[in-house]
Amino acid sequence: MVDTAAVLENVPTQLYVGGQWRDGSGGERFPVDDPATEETLTEVADATGEDATAALDAAVGVQQEWAATPPRERGEILRRSFELLTARADELALLMTLEMGKAVKESKAEVTYGAEFFRWFGEEAVRIDGRWSRSPSGSERLLTMKQPVGPCLLITPWNFPLAMGTRKIGPAVAAGCTMVLKPAHQTPLTMLRLAELMAEAGLPPGVLNVLPATSAGETVAPLMSDPRLRKVSFTGSTPVGKKLVEQASANLLRVSMELGGNAPFLVFADADLDAAVEGAIVAKMRNNGESCVAANRFHVAAEVAGEFGRRLAERMAALKVGHGADEGTEVGPLIDADQRGKVSELVADALDRGADVLTGAEVPKGRGFFYAPTVLGDVPLDARIFSEEVFGPVAPITTFDSVDEALRQANDTEYGLVAYVYTNDLRQALHVVEGLDTGMVGLNRGIVSNAAAPFGGVKQSGVGREGGAEGIEEYVSTKYVAIDM
Ligand code: NAP
Repeated sequence: MVDTAAVLENVPTQLYVGGQWRDGSGGERFPVDDPATEETLTEVADATGEDATAALDAAVGVQQEWAATPPRERGEILRRSFELLTARADELALLMTLEMGKAVKESKAEVTYGAEFFRWFGEEAVRIDGRWSRSPSGSERLLTMKQPVGPCLLITPWNFPLAMGTRKIGPAVAAGCTMVLKPAHQTPLTMLRLAELMAEAGLPPGVLNVLPATSAGETVAPLMSDPRLRKVSFTGSTPVGKKLVEQASANLLRVSMELGGNAPFLVFADADLDAAVEGAIVAKMRNNGESCVAANRFHVAAEVAGEFGRRLAERMAALKVGHGADEGTEVGPLIDADQRGKVSELVADALDRGADVLTGAEVPKGRGFFYAPTVLGDVPLDARIFSEEVFGPVAPITTFDSVDEALRQANDTEYGLVAYVYTNDLRQALHVVEGLDTGMVGLNRGIVSNAAAPFGGVKQSGVGREGGAEGIEEYVSTKYVAIDM
């Protein structure tokens, strides 16, 4: 049994630069709050641009030596990190719940998921290979090899404080890249603790540097214009991602962008409704609905929409809302007042346009940024909730009359991260899967995340993939050698 006070006492609260814990050059600290109580948990050092440059100095200083480290050694550091995360799962889960809000059961699932990137990429580290071939004329030999891209800037959001980091750190370590990581200001503690655990696992000083900061843009600006930085990998909102891509053009950085989503959840008339409702609960409610792959729009065949809505509302209304660390809690608070305000605003807009409340649509009384699990029926397609990411526990339902209409509705968005499809008709399933403009599809399944699979989107959901064999490609460059025979 882990104890809140002990967890907070153990967590580092300074910047991690070149293997040293230190205060920010400006001497400022900022509070990290518990969204369930609105109380401050602790304060952490606030990194400035000057600190960021010092972190990049450290990363650049060890880049060459790190790239030359035997792949097996890098793989074993990841393996040991996986084992340490697994052994400390209870402590890390509670820490995440305290700073982010999700139920501790979900935080534990995130530790398992996040640690898996270390196990997976630990295994991939020894399989980075090249190619030997003959030119078509037969007079040359063509050798291709993969080399680390170099020092990377990694920027992560607050919704998965551990996994959004390990998904980037895992392949970077495997490929032989050094890193400066900036976690979200709401949830810096998990990454600071992770840096400590990775040092314990043998990661050399300077390879991973962690910089909590309140002025994200100003802190990372000196790195984005520094020619020694070679890559930026970002997970977060589409507007910030676009800004970073613009800045990355100055030095033509390699970019990986995991951005916003607006996932459709399609239920066809022949679907197993029990399975569809259970899948909907997972796809909607994982992480309190604060996930880029959360089902945002429910498109249901008209003949089953009433029954689906009734069953989903019954399940959602029965979910236990409370402090994530309390026994039995299934749904925690949203991250902050702004996020809850946005959810309330989108629900109010849908109701103004004629949607029905099947359950929820209210802010519970008391402290903490809670919002009741909500299902809305008959939501008109022009409601804002169908075009904007709600990032909360709200399921809006609309109907369709044909497969073509379902596909049109699903693809009517600037985003293209993931879609969920429930049908038992194989031909229809494959037709729909092919027709969806998304990077991922859950077929009769409400969850797609898997360290062994390429996670990522199309359209304004981003570029690049994290996880799977593809994940490591983001951290290597191809060098080709022409050999005269
Ligand atoms: P956000 O505002 O874009 O923040 C994400 C990260 O970027 C934070 O660390 C933030 O720092 C930093 N940041 C903000 N402005 C910046 C700037 N000008 N320059 C450099 N860094 C900057 O996103 P969010 O609201 O925290 O996260 C939710 C979004 O992330 C949603 O849209 C969600 O869909 C997306 N997301 C996508 C994926 C995916 O894999 N596709 C996964 C998870 C989340 P501060 O904390 O200091 O603001």
